[in-house]
Amino acid sequence: MGRLLFFALLAVLAFWALRGYWRAQERRRAQDRANTPAPAGEDMVRCAHCGVHLPESEGIRSEEGCFCSDEHRRLHARR
Ligand SMILES: [Zn+2]
Repeated sequence: MGRLLFFALLAVLAFWALRGYWRAQERRRAQDRANTPAPAGEDMVRCAHCGVHLPESEGIRSEEGCFCSDEHRRLHARR
């Protein structure tokens, strides 16, 4: 009888520990979602001409840096 009680207690403790772990995981995932801006964690770059911030995939890269448009890349190169 004592052994049965011990195992029952152990099962309850294990259940509590797992439930706490699951809740912590759930909270961490919810926080990750909240912290990540809409297209999944894409790097932001700054236009070297006008200073506007834009996703890296929308920027134009050149030797002088990143630009928001081809026009700004040309205007910056002309200076
Ligand atoms: Zn610009």
